[in-house]
Amino acid sequence: MHLSTGDLLRAEVKANTALGNQISGLLKDGKLVPDHVVIQLIQSCVKDQPSGAVLLDGFPRTLAQAESLERILSVRRVLLLEVGLQVVLERMAGRLTCSGCRRVFHRVQSPPKREGICDTCSQTLLVREDDRPETVQKRYQVYMDQTLDALDHYNKLGKLVKIDGSRDPETVFIEIRDIIEGL
Ligand SMILES: [Zn+2]
Repeated sequence: MHLSTGDLLRAEVKANTALGNQISGLLKDGKLVPDHVVIQLIQSCVKDQPSGAVLLDGFPRTLAQAESLERILSVRRVLLLEVGLQVVLERMAGRLTCSGCRRVFHRVQSPPKREGICDTCSQTLLVREDDRPETVQKRYQVYMDQTLDALDHYNKLGKLVKIDGSRDPETVFIEIRDIIEGL
């Protein structure tokens, strides 16, 4: 099962719960959502899928999250996709997200068949608030500052694998697939 914490958070925002509104404000400011909130969301998903492996995307980002996560499940590998800020900004610049099914398109690399319309569900495509350049730059800095301790933790345990994420998607995909299949 693939769990994207970003998608979990956005689903909560869309459901318009009290928690969702709180998360929405934080995402707009480019801030990280409190650990206990993310843990709570992951835990409820993992509970529904008691068997098999879980691939977590975008989590853990802090040492506190890493420690909380280890109380829910045992971490085998942590894959770090390393990409410089300039490359991140270029990639985010064309990103479009479907307002219906959340499918992601790119103006240049994977454009929709009809401009501004999702191929899958025909809903409108939007630039996500946290894909705007000023927000991306802020998120990048927050990410760098807050993930250091978590990365150091997994490095000491010999579980951290660094991957050069600036290469083309196919090359990166093959490298990640080989690591996961080798576990
Ligand atoms: Zn769609």
